[in-house]
Amino acid sequence: MKSLIQKKFNELFGNDGEFFKSAGRINLIGEHTDYNGGYVFPGAIDKCILAEIALNGSEKVKVFSIDCDEYVEFGLNEEDKPDQSWACYIFGVCRETIKRGGKVAGFNAVFAGNVPLGAGLSSSAALESTFAYAINELNGNGIDLFELAKIGQSTEHNYCGVKCGIMDQFASCFGKAGCLIRLNCKTLEYKYFPFDPEAAGYKLVLIDSCVKHELASSAYNKRRESCENAAAAIRKNHPEVEFLSDAKRLWLEEVRQEISQEDFLRAEYVIGEVQRVLDVCDALERNDYETAGEMMYQTHFGMSHLYEVSCEELDFLNKLARKMDVSGSRVMGGGFGGCTINLVKEELYQPFIDAAVEQFTARFGHAPKVYPVVISDGACRA
Ligand code: ADP
Ligand code: MG
Repeated sequence: MKSLIQKKFNELFGNDGEFFKSAGRINLIGEHTDYNGGYVFPGAIDKCILAEIALNGSEKVKVFSIDCDEYVEFGLNEEDKPDQSWACYIFGVCRETIKRGGKVAGFNAVFAGNVPLGAGLSSSAALESTFAYAINELNGNGIDLFELAKIGQSTEHNYCGVKCGIMDQFASCFGKAGCLIRLNCKTLEYKYFPFDPEAAGYKLVLIDSCVKHELASSAYNKRRESCENAAAAIRKNHPEVEFLSDAKRLWLEEVRQEISQEDFLRAEYVIGEVQRVLDVCDALERNDYETAGEMMYQTHFGMSHLYEVSCEELDFLNKLARKMDVSGSRVMGGGFGGCTINLVKEELYQPFIDAAVEQFTARFGHAPKVYPVVISDGACRA
């Protein structure tokens, strides 16, 4: 990837630039907890966006995307937004940097990536973080890493029409090899925990069902509403409950009769999930991958039966994992499609993948995609 970028950069601009990269991410556990003020537990992966960049002494940005085989030029004012959607991520990062008082001088760039698009590994955050980090370095702005993540998030909100949380950009910016990061979505406090499955005889692999069911966005809004209903009911007894994640299981029990059965089940899932993130962190500190894996199964059960955001394809993959004694498996992301994330003992790794591909294809008529992942560094010079 690097030599391809280098060659293209030289061909287009006649000189050399500096290399920067940032990564896609996984989330081991902590799903639908972000908007409830709970924990998520992501890490950066060994799939990234890599860019060569050099200031060009003009007020223009000139970028070539190797994967889209497309060249775009744009200015740095609000009205200069490019038409190409991939370029909007870079334009947005420039604009959000400027809005925060940062300097953005014109630059040339060539970039490529290997984060699968739209598979739930956040290729867009990798793209934003690469450029946010690079622009900060090249202009000497001294913006801190958290603000760089927020630049990526605001880019999605203001220039790409995606109202995302902070997790993806946070993981992409803060990721470290051998670590996952527990982020408190209410306070934004974070802590690194050791996660090195290879050293303990495990591998992490995603199985992409390659389906996306229609329900996703309307169901998402309904889930959020249920969580707010439950939190509001609990708040009457316990005014300190700002978000649902602040509630104890017992406090939910107290309002069982006051809220709908559906809202109750949704809240039960969320409160359980917040606790599971803490339990997984404890387990990993003891190097106990089996307990961490078991929690992943519990999350899947909750997402399937309490939160009801799974689907046939994902339940199928999860059941197969259980049947084959895979240590941990669950749907990753919002649900209704996308990937399962699986923690697999080395000796089971290939048999599991083979069985998943074969049996899933036989059942659903199309093959799933398989993405092995290794936890890696986030935004950095490359
Ligand atoms: P994801 O879940 O992977 O973040 P998104 O739809 O949010 O999916 O972002 C995908 C978009 O990010 C692509 O449509 C493209 O505009 C941009 N993108 C990601 N990776 C690349 C790449 N390697 N080259 C060009 N654009 C990319
Ligand atoms: Mg995205």
